This record gives sequence, C-alpha cells and structure tokens, in this order.
Amino acid sequence: MEIFNTVKDMQDKANRLREQGKRIAFVPTMGYFHEGHLDLMREGRKRGDYLVISIFVNPTQFGPAEDLDKYPRDFERDRTLAEEVGVDAIFFPDNEGMYPPRYQTYVDVEGVTKNLCGAARQGHFRGVATVCTKLFNIVKPHVTVFGKKDFQQLVTIRTMIRDLNMDIDVIGMPTTREHDGLAMSSRNVYLSEEERESALSLSRSLFLAKKMFEAGETDAGKVLAEVTRYIESYPHTRIDYAKISCVDTIEEAQHVGVDTFIALAVKVGKTRLIDNHVFGEVLDIPYPEGR
Ligand code: AMP
Repeated sequence: MEIFNTVKDMQDKANRLREQGKRIAFVPTMGYFHEGHLDLMREGRKRGDYLVISIFVNPTQFGPAEDLDKYPRDFERDRTLAEEVGVDAIFFPDNEGMYPPRYQTYVDVEGVTKNLCGAARQGHFRGVATVCTKLFNIVKPHVTVFGKKDFQQLVTIRTMIRDLNMDIDVIGMPTTREHDGLAMSSRNVYLSEEERESALSLSRSLFLAKKMFEAGETDAGKVLAEVTRYIESYPHTRIDYAKISCVDTIEEAQHVGVDTFIALAVKVGKTRLIDNHVFGEVLDIPYPEGR
C-alpha cells in the first residue's frame, strides 16, 4: 500500500494511473475507521482497478464550537485496517498542504444544504463541498463511494457533481450498524456507558417510524410526534432536529412516502449523533422493547 502526503505526489500517481487506462475508485474519510468505513472501501475495491482512500479531518467543515480538536485520530490503526481490506493508497495530507496561505476559494451548493444539518451547522456543507472538490481534483477518481449515514452529504455531493459537470460516478452505501442498531460513527467513542444506551433511541425511533409507515400512517406530523416522544423518554437526550424531508430536495415533507426520509440529529450528553431512514428501504435492527 502506498501513502501520499502531498497533493503533487498524489496527482502524479493519479495521472500515471489514468495514462495506463486504470479505473480509480476513491473513498474520502476523516479517519478513525469503523466497519462502516471499511464497507465503503470493500465496495470501492470492487468498483475500480486502483483504490485510493483519503484521511483528512477537514477544518473548514467544523464550526468554531465543534469538536475539530478532539476529533479522534489514529493513523497507524487506520493504515493497518486499510491494508487489510486491500486499499492501494492512502492520501494523507496536512492542513497546510490543503489550505496554504492565501487560500480563498469555496464551493457552495445551495438548495439541498438549506435544511437539517445545513441549518444546524452553518458553513458545514460549504466545507464538505469544497474539500470534496479539492480531493476529486487531486485523486482524479472515476468512481467515489459515500455512506447514506450522512444522507444530506450524499445528496449534496451528487448535486455538486451534476451541477459542476464532474465526470465521477457516485455510489451511496447503506448504513453499517452495531448489533443493537446503533449507526457506526467515529464519534461513538465519546459516549459513556449510560449515553451509549440512550444513543439507541435514534435507531429505535427510526424503526418505530418505519413501522408506522408500514401500518399506513402518512401524516409526517404524527410520525414525528411519536419519534420525538420516544427519543425524549431516554435520559441525556436533546433533539437538535427530527424531520421528514423529500429525498431529492431535502425540503420538509407533510406526507410520508417512498420519496421521503426521516432524519435525526440528537445530542446524547455532549455528543451530537445523526441517523436517518429512507421510507421503503431496509432497516434491519432489533425490535425496540419496553417503551
Ligand atoms: P467520515 O469519516 O465520518 O467523514 O465518513 C467517511 C465516509 O464514511 C462518509 O461517506 C460517511 O457517510 C461514511 N460513513 C460513516 N459512517 C458510516 C456508517 N455507519 N455506515 C456507512 N457509511 C458510513
């Protein structure tokens, strides 16, 4: 496995691969890998001749009061895991390499970033769109793999690729979960034992929403009322948002249907967790009991 630390080395490699007619697959990450990241890499492995992943905790997508400094990092562990799943190269730049002095260019995707995390985390998707544009120009992938765990991010990237005519295929992968249903996240390490239990309120309430929809409920307000009640029945939870929106526009929906999804952002203690479910898709988690 190769490690590239500079933009130039990575670009030179990408150019050589393209000259040889190789198909480059790319998985961007912020590192501290869990099984969800590895599933994206396994998919990337199948989709290209040469699989690049990036590890970069991108400062421009964090707000001033967010967890940029304490975001978990462990390059050596990540390197071993990446090698085990057959990654060909890691692009691992530093902040200076990505944002040198006098840096002044940003990418803004408008409509689909207005709501949900776009409203709750000002500037977040501008940072995401900017760093992904840069990474795409550096790694020059034919195909890139993202997780549906960050559903609004996936829609933002698809929209940007379409609008800016980037010639890249995007694959969206289902959310990888712990056995009890908790969506895997690098931030789960922040949770205490008690908070870890309360964190189950997200996936379990999504399951309740799915059951209501399958039983014929189409009123978004009623589904959200039940979801809110359920999450708030757990200690240490504070709902940032719980919304049902259209999968294409990310605009709020009054009616639940297969063109909509429910998205949650919940603070559990000090840790902000997100999860979502697209109505009509699979959500395979243990049945929530006792509440
Ligand atoms: P991150 O390192 O958190 O920025 O995530 C890198 C990529 O992994 C993004 O495309 C995420 O959507 C994806 N991802 C994060 N958590 C999961 C998960 N539990 N299942 C599947 N993909 C995930």
